[in-house]
Amino acid sequence: MRAEVIGVGTELLLGQIANTNAQYISDKLALEGIGVYFHQAVGDNRERIKQVLEIAHARSDVIVLTGGLGPTEDDLTREAVADFLQRRLELDTSVLQKLETLFAQLGREMPVNNRRQAMRIEGGRFLENPRGTAPGQYVEADGRHYFLLPGPPTEMRPMVTDQMIPLLRSVIGRRMTIRSRVLRIFGIGESAMELLVADLIRNQQNPTIAPLASEGEVTLRITARAQSEAEAFALIAPVEEQLRKRLGNAIYGIDEETLPVAIGKRLAARGETLALAESCTGGLLAAMVTDIPGSSAYFKQGWVTYDNVTKTEQLGVSSELLGRYGAVSEECARAMAEGARARSDADWSISVTGIAGPGGGTPDKPVGLVHIAVAGPDGTTAKEFRFRGDRQQIRIRSAKNALYSLFKRLT
Ligand code: ATP
Ligand code: MG
Repeated sequence: MRAEVIGVGTELLLGQIANTNAQYISDKLALEGIGVYFHQAVGDNRERIKQVLEIAHARSDVIVLTGGLGPTEDDLTREAVADFLQRRLELDTSVLQKLETLFAQLGREMPVNNRRQAMRIEGGRFLENPRGTAPGQYVEADGRHYFLLPGPPTEMRPMVTDQMIPLLRSVIGRRMTIRSRVLRIFGIGESAMELLVADLIRNQQNPTIAPLASEGEVTLRITARAQSEAEAFALIAPVEEQLRKRLGNAIYGIDEETLPVAIGKRLAARGETLALAESCTGGLLAAMVTDIPGSSAYFKQGWVTYDNVTKTEQLGVSSELLGRYGAVSEECARAMAEGARARSDADWSISVTGIAGPGGGTPDKPVGLVHIAVAGPDGTTAKEFRFRGDRQQIRIRSAKNALYSLFKRLT
């Protein structure tokens, strides 16, 4: 069973929106054990939609289209699919009535254009859309299963989980499932990690192992195909164990357990609290920490002390220290962390001070130089980093390394 997802919309091709619908649908089909072999994207053009259908028809059993079901001139998916299958479009009076009622409730006359949304492909059936006007459609033709779904994600998503997946289960039966475990790794580069596990990656078929790197973080995704969820995880377990033997402490979390989640869990378990003193990350670290629901249990407060006077006034970093070592120094990082810890009465504090660029670097203190300190019940530790990349990358890497520095102290 091969599936293919087609995003319809010129915005996709212009780069105005990302094809998150394809991502969502692929994820849900994978959980059903239906392999998605291809993605296509096409503009709002009837002939070109027919061309991509031609290609999909030749190689896929399940063909899911999103977008272009609206009432306007450029919403052509319905017409293109009908045309391609050489079927008529039939007006469904009960859907038309529903649309009219919907508009009446809004106190508006239904524009004549919306009638098109009540047109069903001959032999097909409608998929209800409780969140919008455009119903989806399902039609089987020539052994292929076509799903036409609306473009807006808030309408498309429930239609996938509540209607498309159950329908697919009933027509093709549920045979296999695909499950993944993600190992989250920090403090070791992608290539170094690949060297450590290259033989494992090469020799795997089921499960497969796939590395992925982003901003100083690396993840390994172990994916298994099996008859049931339990069986899939039974296949994953021994591979995970082998990887853990090789990578040891570098693995800090699994699945959705990102760095802020991992430190949050540990702080909460220990009943301890955190404060932050940021300079070059400008609040990014605090945003990452507070993105996590429940962070109020351990996060006390944060400072963004961007200039020297505030470092002194807010955190008690002495002006003499700043004069001698400068704001981007290990000494300043330590003083910021200790000041934040003392003034917030938190158990732990992290400080970040550095040069995110693009300006402000000197031969001595180049762009990307960042000092991070962690102050805790057993003293203060500090580390110097030299990050590469643009301003945004340097800031993200600083924040993640700051979290990881605390993580190490907590384990
Ligand atoms: P509408 O009734 O709103 O016109 P539609 O089914 O005709 O719905 P489109 O007009 O193609 O869908 O897209 C409507 C909006 O849905 C887009 O502006 C975009 O915000 C979102 N959208 C469409 N396709 C995708 C996609 N593949 N991924 C993410 N978002 C999408
Ligand atoms: Mg539209």
